[in-house]
Amino acid sequence: MNINIVEEVNKRRTFAIISHPDAGKTTITEALLLFSGAIREKGTVKAKGKKSNKFAKSDWMEIEKQRGISVTSSVLQVHYDNHQINIVDTPGHEDFSEDTYRTLMAVDAAVMVVDSGKGIEPQTKRLFEVVSHRGIPVFTFMNKLDRDGREPLELVAELEEVLGINAHIMNWPMGMGKSLIGLYDLYNQRLELRNPQDDEDDLYLPLNDQGDVDGDYDFKESSVYQQAMEDAMLLSEAGNPFDLEQIQQGKLTPVFFGSALTGFGVQTFFDAYVDLAPHPSAIETEDGQEVEPYSEDFSGFIFKIQANMNPAHRDRIAFIRIVSGVFEPGINVTLERTNKKLRMAHTTQFLADAREEVQLAVAGDIIGLYDTGNFQIGDTIYNGKKVKFKPLPQFTPELFMRVTPKNVMKQKSFHKGMEQLVQEGAIQLYKTYHTEEYIIGAVGQLQFEVFQHRLLHEYNAEIVMTPIGHKVARWIDPADLDPNMSSSRNLLVKDRFDQPLFLFDNQFAENWFKDKYPEIELKSLL
Ligand code: GDP
Repeated sequence: MNINIVEEVNKRRTFAIISHPDAGKTTITEALLLFSGAIREKGTVKAKGKKSNKFAKSDWMEIEKQRGISVTSSVLQVHYDNHQINIVDTPGHEDFSEDTYRTLMAVDAAVMVVDSGKGIEPQTKRLFEVVSHRGIPVFTFMNKLDRDGREPLELVAELEEVLGINAHIMNWPMGMGKSLIGLYDLYNQRLELRNPQDDEDDLYLPLNDQGDVDGDYDFKESSVYQQAMEDAMLLSEAGNPFDLEQIQQGKLTPVFFGSALTGFGVQTFFDAYVDLAPHPSAIETEDGQEVEPYSEDFSGFIFKIQANMNPAHRDRIAFIRIVSGVFEPGINVTLERTNKKLRMAHTTQFLADAREEVQLAVAGDIIGLYDTGNFQIGDTIYNGKKVKFKPLPQFTPELFMRVTPKNVMKQKSFHKGMEQLVQEGAIQLYKTYHTEEYIIGAVGQLQFEVFQHRLLHEYNAEIVMTPIGHKVARWIDPADLDPNMSSSRNLLVKDRFDQPLFLFDNQFAENWFKDKYPEIELKSLL
């Protein structure tokens, strides 16, 4: 295909939305889809099951029943303002933070949606920490301005203090809730009115040199307008100045106000977002080389695997973030881990209300590849020069269960389900050395419940899980392994790559071990 790769890559904007459940992630996504013309009616995203981020347990189970839909929206591709936007969803529940962590490795920026009535909530803070660790830009949207919320100055001060990032005010609310008349837009030097006085042309009014608008308008007398003008003056003098470089390094977050539900301010937000957010850039490989997005050679990595998106088809999809080159249907690639050659024939992209075969994709795009079991999370694929991207972060599990199938006649489906869900990264699997008992490990309790539920519903395998509680998991070099090291205070197991590790009962047991075997190095994951 004859395309201008630089032009195509530069059009890409790939981001994740980070927020606390209920802040408005779904609603703002939907507003974006509406503006871009991808959907015509509100309710499309919700109706398609994208309630998963709410993640009350019952909700999740419900959604699991209609899988395929919930996941359609876990990656969304939208054309907006001559750009190609890719939105990657992150699970809202903290028990799935490992999944979130990996997903955030596949994006170039984050949109942080904050409920202006609540401010910075715990899950927002946690997700922000992951994002800031990566040094990617964060664009803040203070949502629900149509309701009476907290004082804007207080919200911004809290954001800076709790998250430890500087904020630059892009626009400032003129009133709030019922008294909201519009936004004082410092970035575009205009007012954006909520209810234009005469006709739609008055939606935006340019600011004059005095930071006021010319002409006769009723609102000019109002106290909310006067107050906003005063605040704006103060902000331009005393606030953090606009600095694109700092924004792109994730050191300064541009802050916008608006209401996702009414759509007010959303377009202004995304217009600025596509202007200021970075296009895909070079990504570092394990050996410290950089892979340029414009390179002719195709490369990418798998950050998520999801089985049974559509139970009727028993499919399994590997989500690939493209790092370089051009994807066209049928291209041949090498899977770095196994050196195996593969033809990428069955791929899919995720649109607002459909899935389609990918015709063309470049760096920054996320494509789904139907997988028969070749891939694992973190795998690199490439054609041309061999590359290997850095491994994706893995958390050290803290909670453990013994697992046995309830029905010995169904061993086969039990093993199959186990294998696939473990490859997905849904749970960690360990085996004891001699008896080969299964032990599963998780970061959050809900992971176990989802695992059990999915085994039953997707593989028809009922399991018995026996909690063995909190453990401290520590890996050791196989060369150091001595069966005598196993004691009543630890359990020696191997992971699925046959690497040995101890599950210590507690910190005390670990320390006791360290004292006894000072020469042995104990390693954890993240
Ligand atoms: P999510 O959990 O972050 O995806 O949140 P949702 O988008 O599902 O929104 C949670 C609730 O807040 C829903 O009832 C929305 O209708 C409501 N909501 C979202 N945005 C706004 C807004 O701008 N104003 C008001 N008043 N409600 C909103």
